[in-house]
Amino acid sequence: MKQNLFTKQVAIIAALFLILLAGCSSKAESQTTEEETAQPILVQGPMPIEAENFAEKLSDVEEETSGTFVFYKGTLDGYPVIVAKTGKGMENTAAATAVAIERYNPAAIINQGTSGGHDPNLNVFDIVLGEKTTNIGSLKTGDRADGEGIEPTNWIPMDLMASEGSAGEDPNAEKARFYEGDEELLEAAKAVKDVHTEGKVVEGTIGSADVWNNEVDRIQWFHENYGTSVEEMEGAAGAQIAKAYDVPFLGIRILSNNKTNGGQYNPETASSNQEYVFEVVKEYISSNLEK
Ligand code: SAH
Repeated sequence: MKQNLFTKQVAIIAALFLILLAGCSSKAESQTTEEETAQPILVQGPMPIEAENFAEKLSDVEEETSGTFVFYKGTLDGYPVIVAKTGKGMENTAAATAVAIERYNPAAIINQGTSGGHDPNLNVFDIVLGEKTTNIGSLKTGDRADGEGIEPTNWIPMDLMASEGSAGEDPNAEKARFYEGDEELLEAAKAVKDVHTEGKVVEGTIGSADVWNNEVDRIQWFHENYGTSVEEMEGAAGAQIAKAYDVPFLGIRILSNNKTNGGQYNPETASSNQEYVFEVVKEYISSNLEK
């Protein structure tokens, strides 16, 4: 009886050892395959009109979803490119960026779509390359007691990334944080400026928040205090998460409207921007990434 129990124990230990060995070797195999696969370029667009045109231009597209986010995995000139339809706004963009980085390990991220002009020299169909991207919804109000009213022009920028302590108390947090556009992505974008014939392509600052500003004085206030060229609702969220994971990032935004010079909203701008970003991605692949 005792002998029998001992044999059983030996058999169980041997089986466990074999399972462990098998686990190790399959892990080693999957690591090699991951290493052999090229890291994709991720192109983000918030709305269907800002993502689907680009997705249609890819070859061998497979669709994957995570929550409400849709990832169109395909190739461009034989190189892996993933288009992400993120949904509108900062939260969707931050989450979709983190999910994509964890799932697909992208080599670079381009966040693109429409925007509203803050610079009166920019017109509908002009494109802004985000040399800098900043969160224009991250603000600290002045100290005002009951009945003293609200004074938005006295609000100051607040940098939530300044420290892990209280941003409300920290004087070092009383400034805007600017995320720099990746230099190689910027170079690729500048190299193909001429393909965009419906407007000009300039370098500038993209401001993001879950806010649509229609007050021209407030728009001018951002333009003067943050140097914003355009506003939209996603770029800074993508930039912040890309930076957290150290992934190269660039925002590319076409003006679909500009309150400061009467530029009327035109949804056709969304596809025009995707045409341009398609050329940027091709240029980036050919000059920076091996096939
Ligand atoms: N007018 C559009 C609404 C778009 S909602 C419609 O009715 O369909 C806002 C989206 O457009 C966001 O993804 C944002 O990034 C972009 N956007 C374009 N112009 C904007 C502006 N002036 N202010 C804020 N977001 C803007």
